[in-house]
Amino acid sequence: MADDTVKAEALQIIGMFQVLPKLVVFDLDYTLWPFYCECRSKREMPSMYPHAKSILYALKDKGIDLAIASRSPTSDIAKTFIGKLGIESMFVAQEIFSSWTHKTDHFQRIHSRTGVPFKSMLFFDDEDRNIETVGKMGVTSILVGNGVNLGALRQGLTSYSQNVNKIEKNKKKWAKYTQNSSSSEKTE
Ligand SMILES: [Mg+2]
Repeated sequence: MADDTVKAEALQIIGMFQVLPKLVVFDLDYTLWPFYCECRSKREMPSMYPHAKSILYALKDKGIDLAIASRSPTSDIAKTFIGKLGIESMFVAQEIFSSWTHKTDHFQRIHSRTGVPFKSMLFFDDEDRNIETVGKMGVTSILVGNGVNLGALRQGLTSYSQNVNKIEKNKKKWAKYTQNSSSSEKTE
């Protein structure tokens, strides 16, 4: 599929949702590109998964901010590749460092850099443990099996809006509950 076609489809998918994340965060290795960059040389010209770049552009067009959270031990190679791909300026935060934690540090930093609450973020990664840990922080987290593609985008936005609806429902329940308990206090 040509890049323009992928971007048009991505825009159409994004357009189907009423609530959208403020920030979409991507892992690098096996999420945006199909390799571990620590096994590559900086001199190489990298390529991304076929849909990835067009999806980044579509999200950006819709006014959604983008960020990177990667535990790559070779941030120099990762950053060189991001530069070579011409996507450097698309990200409001690039947290690329190895850590013992499964990206909780990365997300804390992204949050303090951008001010975006975890519940307003969507995250794509190819590793279960990152998805589990970051998901517990309140970020809608999507496991990708074959990199970021249109299917993953649709799945991510669907889960995101379901999570937002759940939060809204709970808020309403809570508001009703507190209303009821305060009115019963008055009658006592
Ligand atoms: Mg990865």
